Amino acid sequence: MGFFMSNALIIVDVQNDFMPGGALPVAKGDQVIPMINRLLQLSFDVKIATKDWHPPDHGSFAESYEKKTGEIVELSGIPQILWPKHCIQHSHGAEFAPGWDTAKIECVFYKGTDKNVDSYSAFFDNGHLKSTGLSDYLRKKNIEEIYIAGLATDYCVKYSVLDALQLGFKTFVIAEACRSVNLQPDDEAKAVEEMRKAGAHIITLQELT
Ligand SMILES: [Zn+2]
Repeated sequence: MGFFMSNALIIVDVQNDFMPGGALPVAKGDQVIPMINRLLQLSFDVKIATKDWHPPDHGSFAESYEKKTGEIVELSGIPQILWPKHCIQHSHGAEFAPGWDTAKIECVFYKGTDKNVDSYSAFFDNGHLKSTGLSDYLRKKNIEEIYIAGLATDYCVKYSVLDALQLGFKTFVIAEACRSVNLQPDDEAKAVEEMRKAGAHIITLQELT
């Protein structure tokens, strides 16, 4: 960890619907929880979390078109993969998964709230039209380094990391504290490679402790 830069820990989408048994389960998604608790014990200057937070008729849901999960439609001019209905605002599925220390989170940022555009990144929607407010929040706190963990490596973690790098943050991914959707078996490896190539530092929990 840099000694002079202010840093932030960002926990991405550790919510019931992404847990095994949830509406859009990430395999072994629950395994990130003990590691996230360890991360939350470390002395980051800012600890925040994101929530996927959709209206019931969101344009990323296969049900909204009577299509199948994995099919692709166009949503506000952007190719959109269709998912099962998940993380409906105020539902049990959208709540933080049990077992991690959410009391240490000082602020939650919500994404995917507009039914006409999805938002994988914690910073912007997929069309880069609207900010979630996260970058302004971090800038106000003079954050220069970001540490990211959560779900899923190949979507919301990856796009958050790519945006963070683009915004000029020095960005670290605690890869072992992330899990992937893996629509294709090598999606995780590809996502890690893409993040690394873009300038992210892929690290282990041990490197921080
Ligand atoms: Zn979603």
